[in-house]
Amino acid sequence: MLNSFLNILFPETCPVCKRPAKDHKTAPICADCWQAISPYEGPMCRKCGRPLVSDVSATCGECLEDEPAFTYARSFGLYEGALKKAINLFKFHGIKRLSKPLSDIILSIDMPEVDTVIPVPLHKKRLRQREFNQSALLAKYMAKGLGIEAKFDCLVKTRDTAPQVGLNSHDRRKNMKKAFQVRNSELIEGKDIALLDDVVTTGTTVRECSNVLKKAGAENVYVITLAHGMMD
Ligand SMILES: [Zn+2]
Ligand SMILES: [Zn+2]
Repeated sequence: MLNSFLNILFPETCPVCKRPAKDHKTAPICADCWQAISPYEGPMCRKCGRPLVSDVSATCGECLEDEPAFTYARSFGLYEGALKKAINLFKFHGIKRLSKPLSDIILSIDMPEVDTVIPVPLHKKRLRQREFNQSALLAKYMAKGLGIEAKFDCLVKTRDTAPQVGLNSHDRRKNMKKAFQVRNSELIEGKDIALLDDVVTTGTTVRECSNVLKKAGAENVYVITLAHGMMD
């Protein structure tokens, strides 16, 4: 608590290693800690990208039972260490300069060629609270890096949903049902889409977004996220 308070007051201290961080494009995270951010290379679900405890990549039970509408989902790393700090500083403390180095991380994810990037939208009520949609900012840089355009007016969140924490998978799905809608569907018909979010944990949100995008005529949806959170 005290540490995070001090970090906000004295951003020159790296929040990961607590050493003074010299002026750097990833400040307050120091260059050493930033360079230590590494991709997850362990076994994962081939479909949803969820890290698996087994030693081979396979399709996870949830994807076998209820096949997601997206073609596949991939994250860069695990939601831990410097990557977690960076995402939280960006998302909750509004340190927007981190959007550029974070989108560089996104661009290093191996993904197929896509026509457009669509961020997971926030409900307008949340947008007012947070002042910006972190995923939209990342989508803008990601699309720029890919030489394509991001679309911000195709997928909208029309219903504010309760936090997913503590809900079982059935209730999570119910909670997200009809929360998203597609507008201007002619812009996504037949298109291959990268659906971008910062963190994926249970996958309920990106599953629901993929459902509505596919129903509106998208050809393929690839879910791309910075980090995969661990479920309890
Ligand atoms: Zn550091
Ligand atoms: Zn899976």
